[in-house]
Amino acid sequence: MSRSPPRTCGTSPQSASPPSGRTSSPGANTAPRRSTRVADFAVPRAAEPPFLLAGDAASVTRPHTASGAVKALQDALCLERSLQASSSAAEALHRYADERSPEGARLVGLGRRLGRELVENTPDWPAMGPAEVDALSRAALNGTRSYLYGSVQR
Ligand SMILES: Cc1cc2nc3c(=O)[nH]c(=O)nc-3n(C[C@H](O)[C@H](O)[C@H](O)COP(=O)(O)OP(=O)(O)OC[C@H]3O[C@@H](n4cnc5c(N)ncnc54)[C@H](O)[C@@H]3O)c2cc1C
Repeated sequence: MSRSPPRTCGTSPQSASPPSGRTSSPGANTAPRRSTRVADFAVPRAAEPPFLLAGDAASVTRPHTASGAVKALQDALCLERSLQASSSAAEALHRYADERSPEGARLVGLGRRLGRELVENTPDWPAMGPAEVDALSRAALNGTRSYLYGSVQR
């Protein structure tokens, strides 16, 4: 019995077309290329009594933000604070969801912007000076707080 190869989550062996904007030159290796897709998501609301989602279960951001572990810890700390400040578990979960749902969405949005600027539209890094790299980074982070630049002015 023949079995199809296992598929890795987020990997699509069938989609072999080159990234947009790139074309294959004559004589180039025309063997199908594997393309790996990166998935991200954020639930609209991180808790609804009696359910609560934390860490990656609530939102998975792209690797560019390098923030998944920190976010998981912040979720846990927020739950602790919410439980201490609330008179019932349901109230604590609503408090938690009010604080953490927008943060999950913000990080996913940041990862998408960074992915677009750094991977999908890869800049010509060698041709850029420090000021241009700085300007590009600020544009990618526009409207967000960043561990690199603090509060970014619009
Ligand atoms: C390759 C890689 C590099 C990364 N680099 C960074 C980085 O540099 N900085 C950063 O901030 N983040 C990074 N992350 C993301 C970070 O690891 C995650 O965002 C973070 O670990 C999420 O924490 P979590 O507690 O939600 O989930 P996890 O850490 O995945 O913990 C979930 C736990 O639940 C257990 N589990 C699953 N199913 C069951 C079950 N049915 N019963 C009992 N237990 C179960 C799992 O074994 C696991 O121990 C990286 C992730 C990957 C994959």
